Amino acid sequence: MSQDPNCIFCKIIAKKIPSKIGYEDDLVTAFEDVNPQAPVHTLVVPKKHIPEIHSMTEKDKELVGHLFFTAKKIAEDKGMDSKGYRMVINNGAGAGQTVFHLHWHVLSGGLSGRMT
Ligand code: AMP
Ligand code: ZN
Repeated sequence: MSQDPNCIFCKIIAKKIPSKIGYEDDLVTAFEDVNPQAPVHTLVVPKKHIPEIHSMTEKDKELVGHLFFTAKKIAEDKGMDSKGYRMVINNGAGAGQTVFHLHWHVLSGGLSGRMT
């Protein structure tokens, strides 16, 4: 699995730095955002270091499908489906991306209206 030794999320995946991991399998890790923007704010990341959605390739299509499905399962397990939830992927610094390891934000509770 390709990793970047300087990447903070690769370090979390490898358990070299602490985090609240709630789910993991061979392909993904999910952990709590350290600076939550909603009562529930989980990050779902591929174990493979992919910097951003724009750098995914044809061969990552199945992995990205698995990430989406995992994010949905986490939302279900945490009872988010009754409250509504939001999945956000920031792509590029101009869109607010600060960690360049692909991640899904899964947010629920206290969300105000639409984002767009
Ligand atoms: P983004 O701005 O879309 O790149 O999101 C990066 C997210 O990673 C932010 O919501 C941060 O709060 C979160 N984050 C950064 N460092 C950590 C960490 N060590 N553990 C958990 N979440 C983190
Ligand atoms: Zn990484």
